[in-house]
Amino acid sequence: MSNILYIVVPCYNEQEVLPETSKRLREKVQTLRQGGKIDADSRILFVNDGSKDATWEMIQKLHEENSVFSGVNLSRNRGHQNALLAGIAVAAEHADMIVSMDADLQDDVDAMDRMIDAYEAGNDIVYGVRSSRQKDTFFKRNTAQLFYRMLHFLGAEIVYNHADYRLLSRRAAKGLLSFEEVNLFLRGIVPMVGYQSTTVTYERGERFAGESKYPLGKMVAFALEGVTSLSVKPIRMITMGGLFVCLVSLGMLIKAFVDYANGNVEPGWTSVIISIWVLGGLQLFAIGIIGEYIGKTYMETKRRPRYLIESVLLDAVEQEDTPG
Ligand code: UDP
Ligand code: MG
Repeated sequence: MSNILYIVVPCYNEQEVLPETSKRLREKVQTLRQGGKIDADSRILFVNDGSKDATWEMIQKLHEENSVFSGVNLSRNRGHQNALLAGIAVAAEHADMIVSMDADLQDDVDAMDRMIDAYEAGNDIVYGVRSSRQKDTFFKRNTAQLFYRMLHFLGAEIVYNHADYRLLSRRAAKGLLSFEEVNLFLRGIVPMVGYQSTTVTYERGERFAGESKYPLGKMVAFALEGVTSLSVKPIRMITMGGLFVCLVSLGMLIKAFVDYANGNVEPGWTSVIISIWVLGGLQLFAIGIIGEYIGKTYMETKRRPRYLIESVLLDAVEQEDTPG
């Protein structure tokens, strides 16, 4: 049985961190190789997600100097999740196990040892889970918490405090690639792949250098993506809300009739104004959520490619066809 490891690292404008990241990952691969845990054909696969800085030039240079470094160059910026998927797709052709991690060294590289141990113990998916969020900003910590809670409430099967630091076996990766949705929210989809899985906890550090590539706007879009791609519960909640409002208005109607019959007709300004505003708000909100899903359906019907690869730098050793 071979043990080829591919470490997939999506990079968007990461020239500040790449020198350090590549150094640490190379050292990690070296020690793992010396320890006999992984094969010599293991690779570090950087995916350049349409960076505007020198990221791709740096990846090319790393590859020239040492063939342990390989690279995938996307035709343009497609976002973290798609870049990750592109890397996994390339890696799944060669690797037995694929570890995905961010470029900024927030994920503890040393946790990889335990991930590989868990893989050897028979797990197809090993989730990296943060032991604490002390290093995150107060805002990020709390919004992230709220987000996970909400996804749970909506019925999505999602691993708490797990980002995209994980190990996938080859068959889990192939399984993941067979999910064809264009709107991709990997941490919600991976649990659907199934197979035996486990978690490995690690301390998440601060970004090594450079700025976060997930500004607030992108984060909100990502969260919305997560909700609407994993659950249709919001639409059901709207239906229930609508039903409730209908029942209440029925009650009001009866009251109005009784009042009319008794001859005490009220001026009624307050109730009219309140109903208009409450119902107006509810309707706008409901239409908005339904619109989200319709938009999503529209995007999915186009069946657009999730990414296009411009070039691949990879000196993979040709694998023999092994039976079984
Ligand atoms: N990233 C990417 N494409 C993008 C945005 C981000 O490939 O459009 C990569 C980025 O280079 C990093 C990872 O996704 O390796 C996570 O981004 P970042 O660390 O900035 O996010 P944060 O940790 O702040 O949530
Ligand atoms: Mg980061």
